[in-house]
Amino acid sequence: TKAKVAINGYGTIGKRVADAVMLQDDMEVIGIAKTRPNFETAMAQEKGYAIYTLADRVEAMEKEGIEVTGTVEDMIEAADLVVDCTPGKVGATNKELYEKAGVKAIWQGGEAHELAGCSFNAETNYEKALGKDFVRVVSCNTTGLCRVISPLDKEFGVKKARITLMRRSADPGDIKHGPINAIIPNPIKLPSHHGPDVKTVIPNVDIATTAVKLPTTLMHMHTINLELEKECTAEDVESILAEQSRVRFVGQGITSTAEIMELARDLGRPRGDMWENCIWNESITMYEGELYFFQAIHQESDVIPENVDAIRAMMELESDGQKSIVETNSKMGI
Ligand code: NAD
Repeated sequence: TKAKVAINGYGTIGKRVADAVMLQDDMEVIGIAKTRPNFETAMAQEKGYAIYTLADRVEAMEKEGIEVTGTVEDMIEAADLVVDCTPGKVGATNKELYEKAGVKAIWQGGEAHELAGCSFNAETNYEKALGKDFVRVVSCNTTGLCRVISPLDKEFGVKKARITLMRRSADPGDIKHGPINAIIPNPIKLPSHHGPDVKTVIPNVDIATTAVKLPTTLMHMHTINLELEKECTAEDVESILAEQSRVRFVGQGITSTAEIMELARDLGRPRGDMWENCIWNESITMYEGELYFFQAIHQESDVIPENVDAIRAMMELESDGQKSIVETNSKMGI
C-alpha cells in the first residue's frame, strides 16, 4: 500500500508537492487543505484532490461550489504524514495538532530548525530523516547551497564559504510584496541568517552570507566563493558538479534568469518549474586558490523533489538516499 500523504496549505509550495507526490509509485495524496475558496482551490478540485478546510470555513467553501470532504483534523486523521506548506510561522502553530494525531509531519524552510529538530537536504543527509516523525525541508536558498557545498566538501573539503544571495522579492503570482523599483539590503545586519541555516544541514561548514532583495520574481542568484582544503582546478570542480543530478549547467546564450525560466517552459516543465540549481559552468573559476561561480535557484520549485525524498525517508520506503533521489527524479522527469 502507498504512504498516505496530506498537504496542509495549498499555495506555491503545497500545490507543487501534491502533484510531485502523485507521480510516485509508493505514496499518494489523500487530501489537501486550503483556507480560502479561490481559483487554486477550484483547480485542486478539478484535479481530483479531496479538499479539507478549517472547521469555520466549510460554509464559505461550499458557497463557492467547493465540495468539502472534511476538516483539517479529519484530513490529518486519515494521513500517515502531513506536508505542512502553510505560510512561514503558521506551520509552527500546527505542531500540537500533528502530535495529538500521532501523524508524521514535514515543515518548510519558513519554520525554525528547532520546530522539527531535523533539517533536510536529500543529497546531504537523507539518512538523518529515516523513520523520523518531524523533519524540516530547508528553504529554496539553503537547498540550493547544500546541493553544491555538500558534494564539494566531500571531495575537496570546504575551508570557508562566503556567499552573496541576490533574492527575488516576490513570487510571480504575489501582488503584495516588493520592491518594484529598489534594491534592499536584507537583512542590513550582517552576516545574514542564510549561513546559519546551511549549518542546520552541514553543521561544520564555515559559512557567511549576505543578501539583497531585487525587483524581480524570476529566481534567486548566488555568487559563490569557496576556499577549498585540497588543491584542485576549475575543471575538477566542474566535473564534481556535473555528477549532481539536481545541478544543471547553463550556457548556450543563457545570460539571465529570464532565459532560464524560458528554457524551463520550453522543456515543457509543469508550471515552468526548474527543479535543478542552474550553474553557469563558464563562471566556475579558480582565482588565487579560491573558487568562484554563479548559480540561479528557482525559488518556487527546487524544494519539491526534496519534499518527496523526505517523505520516503520518514516513511522508510527506501533506506538509500541515492536510490530515492533517482526514483524521485525519474518520476518527476528531472
Ligand atoms: P503561499 O502563501 O503561497 O501558500 C500558503 C498556503 O497556505 C495558502 O494557500 C494559504 O491559503 C494556506 N494557509 C494559510 N493559513 C493556513 C492554515 N492555517 N491552514 C491551512 N492552510 C493555510 O506560501 P508558500 O510560498 O507556498 O510557502 C509555504 C512555506 O514554504 C513557507 O514556510 C515558505 O517559507 C516555504 N518556502 C517558500 C518558497 C517560495 O519561494 N515561495 C520556497 C521555499 C520554501
